[in-house]
Amino acid sequence: MTTTLAQDLRDAAALLASANDVTLLGHVRPDADALGSALALGRALQLRGGVKVRVSVGEPEEMPETLRGLDVGGLYVPASELPESEQLLVALDTPTPGRLGKLAPRVDAVRAAGGDVLVIDHHASNVFFGTKHVVDDTAEATAVLVFALLAELGTELDEPIARCLYAGLVTDTSGFRRARPSTHLMAAKLLEAGVDPDKVVREIVDDHPFAWLPMLSDVLSDARLEPDEAQGFGLAYAVVTLDAARTVRSEEVEAVVDVVRSTREAGVAVVLKEAEPTGPRRRWQVSLRSKGGVDVSAAAGELGGGGHRQAAGCTAEGTADEVLGKLKAALRRAPLL
Ligand code: 5GP
Ligand code: MN
Repeated sequence: MTTTLAQDLRDAAALLASANDVTLLGHVRPDADALGSALALGRALQLRGGVKVRVSVGEPEEMPETLRGLDVGGLYVPASELPESEQLLVALDTPTPGRLGKLAPRVDAVRAAGGDVLVIDHHASNVFFGTKHVVDDTAEATAVLVFALLAELGTELDEPIARCLYAGLVTDTSGFRRARPSTHLMAAKLLEAGVDPDKVVREIVDDHPFAWLPMLSDVLSDARLEPDEAQGFGLAYAVVTLDAARTVRSEEVEAVVDVVRSTREAGVAVVLKEAEPTGPRRRWQVSLRSKGGVDVSAAAGELGGGGHRQAAGCTAEGTADEVLGKLKAALRRAPLL
């Protein structure tokens, strides 16, 4: 650990330990790392006592069904019901205020009121929008940074806290595929605290209603492989329209990319997920995955999105072909890893 990170962790722990009102926010359409990190830190503060703690995200109102089991203490508050609070806002797994969605104005509001904004994140693209930062782009997950912060706070890990952190760690490392010895040492501590790894992964990653299978069949039958794209690494892509997704939850739509990215002939996988229209043009949330040849965060960044070098996303408007055309052009220009 660098000395600055160690100092940042100490400063963040002091800030959290002295607060009596803390609002923790993950990014919009939160994944297990964003919500797990927020809920783990939230629960740790709640157990210390003497502090009001809330966890929220800008969108959607309700927590994704598969992540609800992580909120043992009932900390989650829908964005529309989140009270104004001015003392301490903590943004987790969130590189820019924009990724907080409709809660983004809270950042300026808290700062204007003289409160603190603590940013805890592992995105290389983090713009340091807080008053205090624990940002390390070498961390596999934001959960890794929260784990270090809890050690600094002297928190004893109970099973719910450990489960939240395990959820973030196992998903952001794609099931420990991107892992270092320290990743497994952290996982070992979480298992010692009582986490059942099979149950966590089953609930969060592997649990889909049967309706997912016909939906997958429909979507994958139109998947395409373009071996020359992505600078010769090959591109596999699939398109999930609102119509194709009507029988399933967001969890099933998000899981499509994990199937597409397993294509041997493609170094890059793209899934276009149609979003509810806000105007006359079709809108898409895009997931990009790279096996390590091409930096997909650069390609997503060209379309106004971001993420990590091997997992990134963006939103785009137009027909599926128009969006795919822009993505292919961006992938032709993206830096190689
Ligand atoms: P996913 O494909 O799982 O939604 O996202 C993969 C990665 O890209 C995550 O780190 C996520 O935060 C980031 N990401 C996804 N969509 C967007 C987006 O629209 N904008 C930005 N800046 N990052 C995104
Ligand atoms: Mn993350």
